Amino acid sequence: MTPSESPFAPSVIAVFCGSNHGQSPIYAEAAASLGRAMAVRGITLVYGGTHLGLMGVVADAVLESGGEVVGVIHRRLHERGHLHAGLTRHEIVPDLRARKARMAELADAFIALPGGLGTLEELFEAATLTQLSDHVGRPAKACGALNVAGFFDPMQMMLDRAVDQGFMKAAHRDMIVVEPSTETLLDRLSDWSAPTVSKWINQPAA
Ligand code: AMP
Repeated sequence: MTPSESPFAPSVIAVFCGSNHGQSPIYAEAAASLGRAMAVRGITLVYGGTHLGLMGVVADAVLESGGEVVGVIHRRLHERGHLHAGLTRHEIVPDLRARKARMAELADAFIALPGGLGTLEELFEAATLTQLSDHVGRPAKACGALNVAGFFDPMQMMLDRAVDQGFMKAAHRDMIVVEPSTETLLDRLSDWSAPTVSKWINQPAA
C-alpha cells in the first residue's frame, strides 16, 4: 500500500454546505449534530467562513462544543461583512477559486451537507482531485456527504447513470461516502482507503 491508500483518521475536515438554511429545520439540526460530533472527536472544521445559513450553524456548533474552526473567506464576501465573528482563525483569499484550493490544502477530508450550487461544485471538485490523486499533501483525500432526509439520493442516481453509461468506474462512485448518520459517516471517513484503480475505461492510462 502507498500512504495514500492506507486508512487515515482525519484531524481537519472541510465542510461544504448551504449558505442558506433550506426549507426544513432538519437540515440545521443535522449541521449542528455534525459540528458537535467533530468537536467531540477533536476534529478541526475548515469552511467558507461565513455566519450565513448551514455554514453558520455548523461553525457555531463546533465552537459551542469547544472545537476549533478555521474560516477561509474571499475578499469580496469579507468586505460585505459575511465573516463569522467568533472563529478560532480566519484567512482572507483573493477569490472563490483560491478559497477552494486553500480549504482543500488545509483539510484531510471533506464532508458535504445539503446545499446548492456552491456545495455540489465543491464536493465534486474535491472528489475529482481524489480520483486523480491530485490533492496537495496527501494525494487522495476522503470525501463524504451527510445524506440528511435523502437529500443526496438524486446525486447518487446521477452517479449511477454515469457508471452505467461508461463514464466512470463503480469504484469512483463508491469512494464518495454517502451516509445518513453523522457518527457512521465520521467513522467511515476515518477508515477510508483510496481506490486503487485508474479512472480510464478501455483506454490506455494517460
Ligand atoms: P451554496 O451551496 O450555493 O449556498 O454555496 C455554499 C458553498 O459555497 C459553501 O460551502 C461555501 O464554501 C461557498 N459559499 C457560498 N456562499 C458563501 C458565503 N456567503 N460566504 C462564504 N462562502 C460561501
